[in-house]
Amino acid sequence: MGKKAIEISNLDVDKLIQMLNEALAEEWLAYYQYWVGARVMEGPMRSEVEPELLLHANEELAHAELIINRILQLGGTPILNPAKWTEYAKCPYAEPVDPYIEEILKQNLDGERCAIQRYEEIADYTNGKDHATYQMAITILNDELEHEHDIEDFLTDINRLKEDIKKFRL
Ligand code: FE
Ligand code: FE
Ligand code: MG
Repeated sequence: MGKKAIEISNLDVDKLIQMLNEALAEEWLAYYQYWVGARVMEGPMRSEVEPELLLHANEELAHAELIINRILQLGGTPILNPAKWTEYAKCPYAEPVDPYIEEILKQNLDGERCAIQRYEEIADYTNGKDHATYQMAITILNDELEHEHDIEDFLTDINRLKEDIKKFRL
């Protein structure tokens, strides 16, 4: 860890590195969940939803990059083996066994809500103590809030479509 980095981190750095490693694992799993879900997905609005899910996948990967950089700055060791991802992650990986678009979106929504909690936790822990990690957590948090909102909007639109079809049939 850089000398100045030690001075500014007025908190339990090992605990913070553990939290960051958990977040790193969660981001990789979120990346794969979006990436594979976008491809197996079937149902209404697929062509509109798919590119957005792939965009989210890339944004999750960008989060992983921010987090690994901070772990290294703090002198920590990032998770070196993907076999540990599911062990570290508190936000569980949800296997997209049902390819219906609403099910895929609901799994992604649960993941985003868990991610929001994660970055609120990191922000709370670092607030006023480690400005660099705090700022990173807020940056990621804002992306996760946007992801949650995008998915809620898709689910609302799909529901509306289903309601309209029902009315039409009656
Ligand atoms: Fe993320
Ligand atoms: Fe996200
Ligand atoms: Mg988006």
